[in-house]
Amino acid sequence: MKRKLLVAVPFFLAAIVASFAITRCESQPEAKYVFYIIGDGMGINQVRGTEIYNKTKGMSPEEAQLSFTQFPVQGFMTSHSGTSYITDSAAAGTALATGVKARNDQLGLDVNEQPHASLADIALEQGYKSAIVSNVAANHATPTVFFVHQSNRKDYEDVTRQTIECKVNFLAGSSIIDEKDNAPFGERWIENAKQEGWEVFRSASEAAESDSDRVMLLADTLARETMRYAIDCHDGDFRLKHFTDAAIKYLKRKAPEKFFMMIEGGHIDYALHNNDAAASFVEINDMNESVKAVLEFYEQHPDETLVVVVADHETGGLHLGGYNSYKLSMEKLIHQNVSMEQLTTQLRHLRATGRGTWENVKAQLTESLGLWDEVAVTPEEDKMLHQIYQRSYVEGRDNRVVSLYADNERLAYEAIMLLAKKACVTWTTMTHTGAPVPYYVKGVGAESFVDVRDNTDIPKRIAKLMGGSLPRKE
Ligand SMILES: [Zn+2]
Repeated sequence: MKRKLLVAVPFFLAAIVASFAITRCESQPEAKYVFYIIGDGMGINQVRGTEIYNKTKGMSPEEAQLSFTQFPVQGFMTSHSGTSYITDSAAAGTALATGVKARNDQLGLDVNEQPHASLADIALEQGYKSAIVSNVAANHATPTVFFVHQSNRKDYEDVTRQTIECKVNFLAGSSIIDEKDNAPFGERWIENAKQEGWEVFRSASEAAESDSDRVMLLADTLARETMRYAIDCHDGDFRLKHFTDAAIKYLKRKAPEKFFMMIEGGHIDYALHNNDAAASFVEINDMNESVKAVLEFYEQHPDETLVVVVADHETGGLHLGGYNSYKLSMEKLIHQNVSMEQLTTQLRHLRATGRGTWENVKAQLTESLGLWDEVAVTPEEDKMLHQIYQRSYVEGRDNRVVSLYADNERLAYEAIMLLAKKACVTWTTMTHTGAPVPYYVKGVGAESFVDVRDNTDIPKRIAKLMGGSLPRKE
């Protein structure tokens, strides 16, 4: 009897396992509401740096944490492109949208330049409505990898033509741009978009209420490639969260059964290309406000919602610490209240209005960065800044620091680099790096992301949870 029981037990267990496997297979979870949030350039040190910055600013430990660092599934993934260990946003975005490696500077194409379907295509096929939201231009690299196939991301004429032909239902960005940020280019394409049936809005609340299946929401700063940096924002300025809230409201009404939404914190990368730490941390906080808005939706639909937060690549080679010390003095950065670009504008305005004396310039650096006031300046540092002022600002020699997206005043750059040095926040480059990047997942199907190793794995997992499959040639 005892022996019979021992023989029967394994069969019994096998039957349970088999029936469980069948049930699991039959009930492959479906993500009805998918939120895909991309922090452009947001490496792990940027994320951790933001939390330390917040804590140093006096936030409680709970407030200082970014919402997504609390997600149950987290990991790291490689970000290299098909042609370089150092990816650009076009290739990294293509990997994240389609599940294939691309060449740098190419959108929606594999390394053989074959067009590939994206998660926006999967959404359309599976009956999801979709929104693509970014705080940089709607025809910039990361938004467009979801609907454009182009071998040159800078062919703005063709990229924009494909943008207005896309089947996305809600498209939001700062503006429509070309490489030189020409207003007539944006205006012409916005008119073309209207002809193609887009309803174009400058008001988030009006866009949210629209009944159209093609809604384009642009910030009111036509011909500015980006909206204002979050650190420079005033009340009433467009923020990423305004776009996010409008898109959620629109999709809840227009697609209550299922929708897909991509949100890009594109401005993080802009600040990082300038090596502007405080501005980049405030940008990450700004993107976190959108993640919090998504989590409010998640709380209402916890069994049907998937939230994936990723970075496309790391920018700046940012390190927390340096100079062979064990110190990180983040308090040196918390008095900076403008971006490097805004400080450049302030300094150039002083010079242009004949008020560029050393006393006035020093007063501006105190007001904008806290130097000589909350942040002590040694006599050697004072001398160094004065020499830069004299050589670059007064005599106009070597007076610009040009990054990918900005042309900054040398003195603004050097003053912010001095703050970084005092804080022991260090940089290795003004471009991207090959550092692996973090991902964070919460919600239905999150457990299927635990084995993600490379950025191409992410869209494959998301597509499966939407009932589709990637990668796939178009
Ligand atoms: Zn970049």
